[in-house]
Amino acid sequence: MCDTADDDKPAREEPPTVHVAPPGHSRAGHRVHGWCSRCPGREVWEELLAWRLRENESADESPAPDRAPAPSREATRG
Ligand SMILES: [Zn+2]
Repeated sequence: MCDTADDDKPAREEPPTVHVAPPGHSRAGHRVHGWCSRCPGREVWEELLAWRLRENESADESPAPDRAPAPSREATRG
C-alpha cells in the first residue's frame, strides 16, 4: 500500500509529532524504530532483534541480544 500524495493541504501550524504507521503496520514499531516488520524489505526477526536490542539497552546491559534470532530461510536465499 503506497500512500497517496496529498500535498494540497493548506499550510498550518505543525501539530505535535503524530506517530502514524501505514494500515496494517505496527504503530509501536514505527514510533520507536521508524519501521516495522510489515514494511517492505523487513522481516519479523529484524523487528524482534530491534526490540531486544532496545530493551537490553534500556536495562543498561550490553546492547547485544541474549540470543540472536535466526533469519528465515527466505531471507538467507537473497
Ligand atoms: Zn511498517
